[in-house]
Amino acid sequence: MKCVICSKKVEITVVKNYHYTMSGLDNIYLSDIPVSKCACGETPKVEGLHSLIVKKILQKNDLLTGREIRFMRQQMKLEAAELAEQVGVGEDVLLKWEDGAESAGLVYDKLLRMEFMLNYVKQSDAVSKEPTRKFAEFIAEIITKQGIQVKEEKISISEKEICNERLIVSSASLTKL
Ligand SMILES: [Zn+2]
Repeated sequence: MKCVICSKKVEITVVKNYHYTMSGLDNIYLSDIPVSKCACGETPKVEGLHSLIVKKILQKNDLLTGREIRFMRQQMKLEAAELAEQVGVGEDVLLKWEDGAESAGLVYDKLLRMEFMLNYVKQSDAVSKEPTRKFAEFIAEIITKQGIQVKEEKISISEKEICNERLIVSSASLTKL
């Protein structure tokens, strides 16, 4: 197989532990992921990955980091001003949280997660309602049990989890047809 951009041969190797930084997050590690390499660089096979990262971040026990807040907002396709309005703060305040200059604190962390969860449920409208409801209940439980410190946990994701997520995402777009 040749790359359409650099026209060099593309080599695909399975990487045991791949530090995935393309999402703007620093704490995502993929295990046993096929990665294609050519002169352009490395590209991991990651269809469905971002929606999986969204789920993992929603489920974390510690407060969201600034990078995580920004990643979630971008995944929900929200402008900073829109999300700021949804949680009732100024855009400048939200940007300080995202830059890590200030912590959102426990109350706003809960609010942010609720907004992200609502957006997630809206986006996954076509997915069978039952798992979405279960997921929402699960997150509601996490929100009440949440810790009070901001912590960047290592998030590990395996090839199998990505495959499962891809199935959910593609069956969702099939139901839309
Ligand atoms: Zn290339």
